[in-house]
Amino acid sequence: MGLAATTGQPVVTIHAREHPQYKYFAETGEERFESFMAVPMIVRDVTIGVLAVQTILPREFDSSEVEIFKTCAQLIAPVVINARLLALVGASDDEAALGIAGHEASESPAPDREELNIELHGIPTSPGIAIGTIYRLETPLKLEQLQYTPNSDPEREVEELMDAIGEARRVLDGMREKLGSKFGLDLAAVFQTHIQILEDKGFVAKLRNEALATGNALEALTNVIGTYRMTFQRMSDPYFRERVTDVEDVGQRVMESLLGERHHTTPLSEGAIVVASNLLPGMFARLEVENIAAIVSEHGGPTSHGAIFARTLEVPAVTGIPGIQAAVRSGEMAIVDGGEGRIILAPDEGLLYEYRRTQKRNTVAIEHLDALRGRPSETRDGRSIRLTANVGLVSDLRLVDQHGADGIGLFRTEMLAFAHRGFPGEEEQAELYESVAKAMAPRTVTIRTLDLGGDKEMPNTSMPLEDNPQLGCRSIRLSLANQGIFKAQLRAIYRASAAGNVRLMLPMITSLDELRSAKALIAEAIDSLERAGIPYDKNVPVGLMIEVPSAAITAEALARECDFFSIGTNDLTQYTLAVDRGNEHVAHIYDPLHPAVLTLMDASVRAASRANIPISVCGEVSSHPLAVPLLVGLGIQELSSTPSAVPLVKEIIRELDFGDVEADARAAQNVGTAAEVHRIAASRLREAGLLEHPDIGPWLRSLVDKALPSG
Ligand code: PEP
Ligand code: MG
Repeated sequence: MGLAATTGQPVVTIHAREHPQYKYFAETGEERFESFMAVPMIVRDVTIGVLAVQTILPREFDSSEVEIFKTCAQLIAPVVINARLLALVGASDDEAALGIAGHEASESPAPDREELNIELHGIPTSPGIAIGTIYRLETPLKLEQLQYTPNSDPEREVEELMDAIGEARRVLDGMREKLGSKFGLDLAAVFQTHIQILEDKGFVAKLRNEALATGNALEALTNVIGTYRMTFQRMSDPYFRERVTDVEDVGQRVMESLLGERHHTTPLSEGAIVVASNLLPGMFARLEVENIAAIVSEHGGPTSHGAIFARTLEVPAVTGIPGIQAAVRSGEMAIVDGGEGRIILAPDEGLLYEYRRTQKRNTVAIEHLDALRGRPSETRDGRSIRLTANVGLVSDLRLVDQHGADGIGLFRTEMLAFAHRGFPGEEEQAELYESVAKAMAPRTVTIRTLDLGGDKEMPNTSMPLEDNPQLGCRSIRLSLANQGIFKAQLRAIYRASAAGNVRLMLPMITSLDELRSAKALIAEAIDSLERAGIPYDKNVPVGLMIEVPSAAITAEALARECDFFSIGTNDLTQYTLAVDRGNEHVAHIYDPLHPAVLTLMDASVRAASRANIPISVCGEVSSHPLAVPLLVGLGIQELSSTPSAVPLVKEIIRELDFGDVEADARAAQNVGTAAEVHRIAASRLREAGLLEHPDIGPWLRSLVDKALPSG
């Protein structure tokens, strides 16, 4: 055990006693055992424990068993860490002091509005425009400002607090079920974390002791939550630091149960722009979702759970606006533009008119387009282009149908890791992938293997901090370095393939060596299913993403050894133009329609065509009106985009002539700048009469004016 812990490597031996590091401890009664296997549990490069198995009869552990055991250890490690975190906070001595220090300063009054059209900027988190009235959601940790008269008997306070915990637990169970049936179990799983906190013995004992000591249930809650908050905030690891929002959400829930009827929050009226400290998943269950027009928050980011919920529910959202809570007052009017990441306070009549018009235009266009979802996606001269959707959660599937996508061109499995706060195991993945495949059948589902790292943090694997994460151990590199997790995922994908409509896609391949390594592991996964007699589709197409210039340049060789290509323009642009896709300071250089990117796409299309394999584009660019004519012209056969963009893309395709756009695509590769490429595409849309289209014309005009999405 010690050897596994210190080396960070598995230790396997048939005759443990003969191992040079064998140490006998009489109190363990281990003499009965003969064979031994131990694997370290590692979280972020730190060994937090060792998982061991021993057998009485001598036995060999083969490499696939060691791999499975390593996967178990990786999945168990976060659970152990969670328990330890809670225990650590529970053991803190100075909780009262910390609790008080953890509270926010009291609120300053909102300023009078002499100025109009005050524009505040944050992170675009969920697109869409909302015009409504502000509803300021008080921060959970203003607990101590509430009026609360305790019972004279501290024991009664303890009882009330315990009842409130029980009630909160019931509410959480109810929410998990409500959201589970409405949007899929993957979203509801987030509430499991909250339930885990409420069930934690240390947390409950702490509340009990504090209530006895203070004789005040609310004060006890405030102090204990404050302690947890401070401890979590001090953690250097951002993943653990982010947990503070879960603790706050739990505290808020217990408080609501405790105060019950005495402090009913005002119900949301229709068209509410909720301004909160953070964008929390609980909001969608606690508030009347149908009345939320938009959400704006001081903290949080686009990959938080709340953000995932907002996008799924198509609620516009902006996060990360410092000081927003102090800057607004409930009841005042505001405009939120989720796509641009801005909120405008005190809008004047002119601006309101403009935004209402844009909003109406977008709605008309979307309705018009959705109504036409049954029409084929083909150019005027009969070239058909498959339009598929990019999704990441089971709950997104309803959007695929709503907007008429022809299957899933990119299923981003890493979203599961974010929604679950840790990547689910093989069983759970297999169930999930199978439910997606079944729901989509006979339409194709392209499941991409884990694409973490870079700007997407990996929640439950050790991932060292890197100076250049976008150029570091991300995506397929991470999977090849964590073979246990990778193989579990491959098995899960193959298990789900029995329906016959699954494709497997490898992200960020940079060389033939990488493709071959991944394929060797795929062969091992298949072999293990075969041996276990588990059914799977023997003809799952295995394809790769062209996201790195080296892949596009060596596409001929790659095409000979895989079944399809999909171009990830978000990354291909980043790596071709040397522009970090998440860095706002260089965002003006980022342009997927740069002639260099088009040239690499062209090389990929040619290689695919020579090898007779299909090719698609699944980067954000495939939903941009300006890009559509050029991508079709390059010979792309499938465009996979945000589900809501599918109808618009179809409408554009139906007005194009393949002969024209083919010439455009050639011309675009011979110009020097991205701006010239934009002009070529814009003229094509104009010539096709699309900018004058009565329903989508105004919307298109506003879109083509904007810079292309940065991915
Ligand atoms: C891409 O890079 O274009 C892509 C689709 O992958 P992701 O955005 O998930 O990196
Ligand atoms: Mg990518």
